Amino acid sequence: MIDLHTHSIFSDGTDTPEAMALAAQAGGLKALALTDHDTLAGLERFMAMQPEVATLLVPGIELSCRFMGRPLHMLGLFLDFRDPLLVERIESMRIQRLERNQTMVARLRARGVAITWEDVSREAPTDLISRTHFARVLVRNGAAGSPQDAFNRLIGDDSPCYVPFPDLLPQVAADWIRAAGGVAVVAHPGRGFPRGFRWDEAMLDLKQQGVQGFEAYYPDYGPLEERYFLALAETLELVPCGGSDYHGGNKPGRRLGVGDGGLQVPDGVLERLQRLQGA
Ligand code: AMP
Ligand code: MN
Ligand code: MN
Ligand code: MN
Repeated sequence: MIDLHTHSIFSDGTDTPEAMALAAQAGGLKALALTDHDTLAGLERFMAMQPEVATLLVPGIELSCRFMGRPLHMLGLFLDFRDPLLVERIESMRIQRLERNQTMVARLRARGVAITWEDVSREAPTDLISRTHFARVLVRNGAAGSPQDAFNRLIGDDSPCYVPFPDLLPQVAADWIRAAGGVAVVAHPGRGFPRGFRWDEAMLDLKQQGVQGFEAYYPDYGPLEERYFLALAETLELVPCGGSDYHGGNKPGRRLGVGDGGLQVPDGVLERLQRLQGA
């Protein structure tokens, strides 16, 4: 069992990197990647756990990009997370995210929603603030009935107070990842785009931009969707990746390695990715 997509307190998860490494070992995982959104901040602590666990710990990231006018997430796996150029590039994203978040607070306030910068800062356990933290504040302050309601009406990708960030192109993200020795993998292509979207041409385009794989296994894909993505990966000669997108208590019901229960990423994916490292 392997899991190549998870989040800790360093983005919008609720577990520490240490707890996740130990949980992976307890659950018998062969490999676990930590892929926090737009930050490398948790990786030092995560990788420091390697001597203590039999699970292979994989340093990763999930970069927020835009593609065809929609949000697209790009995983970088097996990164050299201390690479100075990569660190500098990610720092530029931290600043953009900060500005985006401040604009979102202003937009929400302009609509009469009770929310302050202090509220959202306090909600986040580390200095990365994401919409997940906004959603929690909106529920706490009574502006939304549930996090899902907050996303549906106020801060979701197609909602009035969402401010997109940043305009990172997939090609640039793939280049950053590969320049740091990592493997570039499109996260959950079946999400963020209309259901039933045909990825054949778009994924070929992304391959030409430097992408090496994409998630064919994901907790809420249906069997048809998974079969479609597996066939597409084979046709395009891209690695069919996958993971739980574990967020701890921020995505209840999602578990390391197994997702909602039915996730099964074949161990062989790991070796395929390792062969691409630094390519
Ligand atoms: P951000 O990176 O700040 O734009 O926040 C994006 C995060 O919000 C994603 O990684 C998800 O964890 C969460 N998210 C986005 N859309 C939704 C949604 N419709 N429902 C629940 N969570 C969402
Ligand atoms: Mn998230
Ligand atoms: Mn994502
Ligand atoms: Mn994710």
